[in-house]
Amino acid sequence: MVLNSTQSPTVKSPREIDLMRKAGHIVADTLNILRDAAKPGMTSAQLDEIAGREIRGRGGIPSFLGYQGFPGHICTSFNTEVVHGIPGPRKIKDGDILSIDCGAIYDGYHGDSAITFAIGDIPDQAKDLIEDTRQSLIACIDAARSGNGLWDLTTAIRDYAEPRGYSMVRGYGGHGIGTQMHENPWIPNNVADFDSTGRRGLRRFRLRPGVTIALEPMLTLGGWQTVVEEDDWTVSTADGSLSAHWEHTIVVTEDGPEVLTSRTGKP
Ligand code: MG
Ligand code: MG
Repeated sequence: MVLNSTQSPTVKSPREIDLMRKAGHIVADTLNILRDAAKPGMTSAQLDEIAGREIRGRGGIPSFLGYQGFPGHICTSFNTEVVHGIPGPRKIKDGDILSIDCGAIYDGYHGDSAITFAIGDIPDQAKDLIEDTRQSLIACIDAARSGNGLWDLTTAIRDYAEPRGYSMVRGYGGHGIGTQMHENPWIPNNVADFDSTGRRGLRRFRLRPGVTIALEPMLTLGGWQTVVEEDDWTVSTADGSLSAHWEHTIVVTEDGPEVLTSRTGKP
């Protein structure tokens, strides 16, 4: 999601972080269930229904539903779709790569996480794309240390992905998160976005303990360019290349990053 403002991120209290951890665990459990449930022949709307039930059954509120008019509990993005796919009648097929993005609110605090996985058998290049996007998220999380800037997060993605031949989507990125799903700062996925209009302030940010952010690299096998489909939501690669997306919500601590959208605290 694109944010333009460049105010400093707020620091959360231990109580707030605990609520975000609870929201994060609801999201983590729901994503695990969806990954196991996704089978050929099933529609993405059926996955969406499961997501709504699982989030609410754990005491959460689905945060995507109704967000700027978004009609689903989750985003389901297939193959060349990067992010923000709307669940619907589309049937899951053997050989698809599917990205599911999920958000939940617990007692006023948000968790936000995304996974990409294969349905059945997929080519090695697609398997590598999925795993390398996950690894680029792990590298980005590892850079989320007190004193580092947003530049360190974005270059961590680049330094992992670029030598392996991937492109990093421009115009989309991570974000602060807390009582709102999208808080300041916006965190570019591509270093080129640091110098686009109105975003020069991004270079001044410094992470510190208590800062909560969602990190979400989006890699493609082709170029960085994207298009928004006619549904006004789905973002696809402009060149029709495959894309993958992984996301975690984390908190910066004195001892390094803790992943809030994982029950182990690790990616
Ligand atoms: Mg997300
Ligand atoms: Mg997000």
